[in-house]
Amino acid sequence: MAQHFLLTANSRTISELEVARMSEDEARVTFEKLRWSDTDGEPVCSNCGCTNSYVINTTSKTGKSIRRYKCKACRTQYTVTSGTLFANHKLELRDYLIAIIIFTNAVKGISASQMSRALGVQYKTAFVLVHKLRASLIDNKDNTKLEGTIEMDGCYVGKTRPMNRKEDRLDLRLAQNLNPNKRCVLVARQRDTDGIGANRTFTAITTGEATQSIDSFAKENIKYNSTIHSDGAIGYGNLEAWYESIKGDHSIAYVGENGECSNQAESFFSRFRRLQYGQCHKLGNLYLSNYVNEVAYREDNRRVSNKTMMLDIASKSINTPTHSEWTGYWQGNKRTSERLVA
Ligand SMILES: [Zn+2]
Repeated sequence: MAQHFLLTANSRTISELEVARMSEDEARVTFEKLRWSDTDGEPVCSNCGCTNSYVINTTSKTGKSIRRYKCKACRTQYTVTSGTLFANHKLELRDYLIAIIIFTNAVKGISASQMSRALGVQYKTAFVLVHKLRASLIDNKDNTKLEGTIEMDGCYVGKTRPMNRKEDRLDLRLAQNLNPNKRCVLVARQRDTDGIGANRTFTAITTGEATQSIDSFAKENIKYNSTIHSDGAIGYGNLEAWYESIKGDHSIAYVGENGECSNQAESFFSRFRRLQYGQCHKLGNLYLSNYVNEVAYREDNRRVSNKTMMLDIASKSINTPTHSEWTGYWQGNKRTSERLVA
C-alpha cells in the first residue's frame, strides 16, 4: 500500500521552527513578495500604483520596527499590510507567519484557544486571527463551477442531546421537538480525473436536505450535464432534470454494483467531524460556513506540501482587503446573520 502522505518528506517541506527562526525582516520580505508578486516584492503604492518610493524606517509605540514606504508620486505612506486583513497589526509580521504555519500544519483545524497558547496572545486576539485566515480562504476561493463527476451529501450539526432520565427524553422524530438550531452542511465534491479522491469542493449551510435547497446549491455550483452521485435521499430527487443523477443505497452498500458512491463526500465529513469534536468543540451557526469552507480547503489540498500550502494561505491573507467582518470585531462590528442557502 502506498505510504500515507503525512509520512512523506513532501508533507514537511517547512517546519514551525524554521519560521520561528526567521528575522522580522525575512518575514516582511516574504509577505512583500506575496503581496507584490508582479514586481517580485518591490513596493507598489496602495494609493496610485506607482513603484517609485522612499524607505522610511519607523518605530511603533511598542518599540516594534516598521518598514514604511513613501510614494514619490503621490506622497502616500504605506506598509506591506496597508489596506489588507493585517492592516494596523499589533503583532510582528513574523508572528503572523508563525500563526499561518501552525494553522497549515493543523490538518484537522485549530481552535482559537490552542492558537492563543501557541502564540502567547489573548484568546480574543487568536479568535480574530484564525477567523481572518478562514475569511481569506473564502474570499480567494476559485468559484468556477464544478464539472465531471460530483459527489453530493449532507451532514447535520446541532443535534439534541437526550436528557438523563428516560421519562424526560423527548421524541426527536416529532417536528415540535426538533432543535431549531440544527443545521445541515451540504457538500459537493468534484472527483479527480486521475481517479484519486476529489480535488474541488463547495459547501453550503441549510436547515435540511430539502429539494429546493439542494436544487439551488447544485445549480449555483455545478455545471449542467455533470454526473452527480448521492445517497438517494428524497431531496436529491429533482437533480435528474439537469444532471445525470446516480443514486446509491447505503443500507445495501457504500459502493454500489454500478459504481454508485459518495465516499469523497463522506471523507469531507470525516475531517469536518474531527474539527468539530476534536478541535473547536462548539461551532456557532453564525460562522459555520467559514469552518466548513476551511475543511473543504484542507481536503482539496491534503496532498500539497506544507510549505506550498503555508505560502498559499499567506498569499491569500496578505491579498485580502481590510475585512468588514474582522476589523473591530471585539468593538462590536460583527456578522448579524448566518450564511444560509434558501
Ligand atoms: Zn502613490
